Amino acid sequence: QRPVPSDIVISRSCVPKPIDCLASEIGLLSYEVELYGKTKAKVQLETIDRLRAQADGKYVVVTGITPTPLGEGKSTTTIGLVQALGAHLNRNVFACVRQPSQGPTFGIKGGAAGGGYSQVIPMEEFNLHLTGDIHAITAANNLVAAAIDARMFHESTCTMKTGSMMFYKLGIEKTDPSTLTEEEITRFARLDIDPESITWQRVLDTNDRFLRKITVGQSPTEKGHTRTAQFDITVASEIMAVLALTSSMEDMRQRLAKMVVATSRSGVPITTEDLGVCGALTVLMKDAIKPNLMQTLEGNPVFVHAGPFANIAHGNSSILADKIALKLVGPDGFVVTEAGFGADIGMEKFFNIKCRYSGLRPHVVVLVATVRALKMHGGGPTVSGLLLTGNTLCFVFQNLELVEKGCSNLRKQVENAKHFGVPVVVAVNAFKTDSEAELQLICKLAKEAGAFDAVPCTHWADGGAGAVELGKAVQKAAEAPSKFSFLYDIELPVVDKIRIIAQKIYGADDIELLPDAQHKVDLYTKQGFGNLPICMAKTHLSLSHDAEKKGVPTGFVLPIRDIRASVGAGFLYPLVGTMPTIPGLPTRPCFYDIDLDPLTGEVIGLF
Ligand code: ADP
Repeated sequence: QRPVPSDIVISRSCVPKPIDCLASEIGLLSYEVELYGKTKAKVQLETIDRLRAQADGKYVVVTGITPTPLGEGKSTTTIGLVQALGAHLNRNVFACVRQPSQGPTFGIKGGAAGGGYSQVIPMEEFNLHLTGDIHAITAANNLVAAAIDARMFHESTCTMKTGSMMFYKLGIEKTDPSTLTEEEITRFARLDIDPESITWQRVLDTNDRFLRKITVGQSPTEKGHTRTAQFDITVASEIMAVLALTSSMEDMRQRLAKMVVATSRSGVPITTEDLGVCGALTVLMKDAIKPNLMQTLEGNPVFVHAGPFANIAHGNSSILADKIALKLVGPDGFVVTEAGFGADIGMEKFFNIKCRYSGLRPHVVVLVATVRALKMHGGGPTVSGLLLTGNTLCFVFQNLELVEKGCSNLRKQVENAKHFGVPVVVAVNAFKTDSEAELQLICKLAKEAGAFDAVPCTHWADGGAGAVELGKAVQKAAEAPSKFSFLYDIELPVVDKIRIIAQKIYGADDIELLPDAQHKVDLYTKQGFGNLPICMAKTHLSLSHDAEKKGVPTGFVLPIRDIRASVGAGFLYPLVGTMPTIPGLPTRPCFYDIDLDPLTGEVIGLF
């Protein structure tokens, strides 16, 4: 239909298949599927065991050039490509995407179910609570936070010899406190947490900037145990990363137990196991671990599972969903997954963190580019500036010069993908204001930069039919020889790993460790966490740490302000420059438009 209606109107216009029918169509057995209403279901992990002998399908990761704040259509392309490969090229397919955070849904960006005629439906289910996984993470995360403060409080107000049984749960069989030796008391009973060292924060899945710094314990009942703390957004919680990176229920239990929350006054790392909380966390997360089945507008299966942001977290959907999907599609099928933001962020973490833990090796990288973002990189107005000034002329009218200049960013991101040895197909996501000459110029320059192929696509306006050429290019690329390798050896010193990412992927001259970061490098190396992969927390709006620097910035030194350790999830997490770990709301947030239609009971205003 022209003009293309709003996302929610399109989503509503299509009646989804009953999810149990879709589940049986794709080979799931009825006992493996737990229905959540008519359009969503959870899939049990035992499915992997049943299909163990089945060969995996082809594995495709969708990434992008450095985006504008509006997004350049990676989710839309993921869904469009799956629709093309499924309904139009007759392949078994699966899309694996992240569950969106309610921060952006009510904040600046809106939903993340794709858009136009390439969407996951029903989009309001997808964009809101889904099956409650993010709420489960909030609950689990905040239980840990409560356990830390309560533990410090009780340790300071009880004496061990007369203390209550709560101290004796862990690691020792004795239940009679009077039989504990001094060494046992020190090791197992009294954690002696250094309040200054606490790295575990409370979380909330709302863009509430006023929680960036808070004081806890102000009630007189806490007897002066006040300290400053902060909230992060739920999708940045380590528990979200654990969900995304785990390989089984047992593995999740172990990862939830290994999370380091603080250091004792004598320098020993304090874990969730020490707090005695990891069993309860596993219970809170026992349903969240099962991937959520939904469908595209054209009836193809989609797993929506886990949703870490790509700038302040590792930015990829779950390993478990990918693994189940790869078995279900079989050797001739395709699983298309998405890595958040630009290739310098989500894709780098997809390879160096997700693939390292999953053992899976992708066959093709699809790199999404748009004319509007390339014009911005070529010196055109930034989209945020454009929203303020209303100057859209260079976006509406052909400007080959800006596009060509901006392709420097595309060239660099193609190079970044090629560092990993996997063929790259560039998908130019066409907007109605783009000229044919602009689209063709991008394709030509992408191929010159070393892309296996580059094609314009119109899946936003035309659904799967608009991505058939992309689908064919991906099929061909999946047969091409590839030689996957990681960017860095995990055993290298922490600083070397960070420097390799900064220089090879971002184009930095060097890195600079600020004092907090240097202290953490020493601490984590001493504590034995030096051999973890690196998850950079960096702006997604530039290849550098400065969001204003577009194109391919050069001549900069990357400042590493601090480093956190996500030992359970399995990475070190350097903070590049100042990165708020809970976003704020804009002057005109998306929630202004959202309401419930009193006549039909339908959600309105989501886009
Ligand atoms: P990303 O995943 O890269 O952040 P999305 O796929 O979520 O981007 O798309 C961002 C927004 O842009 C969505 O609202 C989507 O509907 C819209 N969009 C994507 N592609 C097009 C297009 N070709 N024309 C118009 N709007 C588009």
